[in-house]
Amino acid sequence: MKSPTVATAIFDALDEQHPGADTELHFTNAYELLTATILSAQSTDQRVNMVTPALFARYPSPAALATATAEELEPQIHSTGFFRTKSKSLIGMATALMAQHGGAVPADMDALVQLPGVGRKTANVVLGHALGVPGLPVDRHVLRVANRIGLAEGEDAEKVEVQLCALLPTERWTRASDCLILHGRRVCKPKPLCPTCLVQEYCDYARTGDATDARGARGAGRKPGITQPKPKTITKATKNASPKAAPKTAATGAPARLVKPGKTSQ
Ligand code: SF4
Repeated sequence: MKSPTVATAIFDALDEQHPGADTELHFTNAYELLTATILSAQSTDQRVNMVTPALFARYPSPAALATATAEELEPQIHSTGFFRTKSKSLIGMATALMAQHGGAVPADMDALVQLPGVGRKTANVVLGHALGVPGLPVDRHVLRVANRIGLAEGEDAEKVEVQLCALLPTERWTRASDCLILHGRRVCKPKPLCPTCLVQEYCDYARTGDATDARGARGAGRKPGITQPKPKTITKATKNASPKAAPKTAATGAPARLVKPGKTSQ
């Protein structure tokens, strides 16, 4: 586990690597983000963003969505998957907002997780991005990356959230989650691109190859040198990386390939 000082350095590096880190869901208010986040379960943000413009036009408020029927709603959200469950959650969420909160999304974790279809991760997304309340959503990317680096330990999302929150001031929580999610999507994938990573010098996985992988054995125990991309992939991926992303490889101690500075790889 890292000290708050080291954690700060790690998140500074992640900020540098992902300067535009933010939720990739499109929304204009808390109701829309809550709806989009419920739809994003087992789907992608890109897919949800294709569905929500028409959905928000037809149901612009909790009052409108509360009047929807499953027959009306299901075809509109079908492409996001699990459409029957999500339809039930969305109508239930909107109905509860109308009945218990006057049609407003409560800026309170305890109240949010009482809403149908809303768990702690969804609540933290809405609190942090739409309601100005510090929150640190933990998804599968956050679990994997935080465990590999050594910022947290374990697969329990709520426990990892507590560990990460303890390392940072509240005002950094939401962006820290955004950075870890983007890092997991673009760099610290199941097969990590360690030579392009700006936190490699702090990372337990890169140093020892023995860090716990929160999502099972895919990465656990493997030596980073063994899992590095082929040279062709390295050339493409590292052309946008910072020079300090090229320390010695952990497995061999040999210098990694030199990389040129520039923008973060996408
Ligand atoms: S060094 Fe490798 S394992 Fe560590 S955070 Fe970066 S990409 Fe992930």
